[in-house]
Amino acid sequence: MPDASAHSDRVVSTRTTRLAPSPTGDLHLGNVRSLLLAWAIGRRAGWRVVLRHEDLDATRSSVEACDAIEGSLRWLGLDWDGPSTRQSDDLEPYFEAMRRLESRHLVFASSLSRRELRAAAGAPHGDGELRFPPELRPDDEASWRFDGGETNYRVTTRSGPEIVRDELLGTHRFDPGAEVGDQIVWTKAGRPAYQLSVVVDDDRQGVTDVIRGADLLPSAARQQRLRRDLEIDGDVTWWHLPIVHDEAGRRLAKRDGDTGVEGLRTAGVPAERIIGLVAWWCGLVDTPRSMPADTIPELLDHDHLRSMVTSETTEPLRFTNEDRRWLLHS
Ligand code: GLU
Repeated sequence: MPDASAHSDRVVSTRTTRLAPSPTGDLHLGNVRSLLLAWAIGRRAGWRVVLRHEDLDATRSSVEACDAIEGSLRWLGLDWDGPSTRQSDDLEPYFEAMRRLESRHLVFASSLSRRELRAAAGAPHGDGELRFPPELRPDDEASWRFDGGETNYRVTTRSGPEIVRDELLGTHRFDPGAEVGDQIVWTKAGRPAYQLSVVVDDDRQGVTDVIRGADLLPSAARQQRLRRDLEIDGDVTWWHLPIVHDEAGRRLAKRDGDTGVEGLRTAGVPAERIIGLVAWWCGLVDTPRSMPADTIPELLDHDHLRSMVTSETTEPLRFTNEDRRWLLHS
């Protein structure tokens, strides 16, 4: 694993990473950990760090939620280069990507409902996703034209290995064709699906390094495939971070209201306390103590990242009641 600090691009950064929160509610401590580490790895190495709000789900996102996330990030002590962006601001690049896929005869409209797909495709993939097999592709020409309409569009996804080389988690082999089949790239809300929007934005924002939670590791394989479908040169460098669990061993989620940053802030917890807890979780300090975010890039060398990943692979990180008490009784 290369040491992020060893890159000599401090003067003219040729690399860019991004903070890409989904503004669907308060950031929880798992989000904070991933965002803080992405920011700290980028800042330590002198990369450009951009902030992109992934707000394409109009039913769950809002401008107010984007502003609130920026407020939380600033309060925590994180910053970013240039103005932040919101995916919903300009849909044209996604339409353009769809037209590119259409010209290569790679996308088709499919209005099969989940129930119909389940009946046709059988058991879902491990994470509950239904596989869309090639047999269900439509054979009428009209379905292979993209009219920007409010229909699901899928991209043909062949079976075969897709290797993801991750700076933190090592080499992983996926087979998106066998796992999920033809994945959705455009939704019936008339908007790009997550996988397409991320690939388009990482490309147009010049992102070279994607640092995010390990729950998205399988998406890396799908995104690599889509990059090739869109004839984007090369792959990004992946850094997937182990995710944080609750006391019961479930992934921290927005349902766990009491792990939200704004909730903690309202309860009087100082930002330095939250940063200190995350630093301790990551093995950057021996005992939890308050510290500002700008101390993290200095502390976060690759030995720490490596030992964090090794220890969390054996024993997943949990936000315990003891952690909560430490936060609240500052
Ligand atoms: N917006 C996604 C999330 O908050 C992250 C997507 C990504 O990093 O590719 O989970």
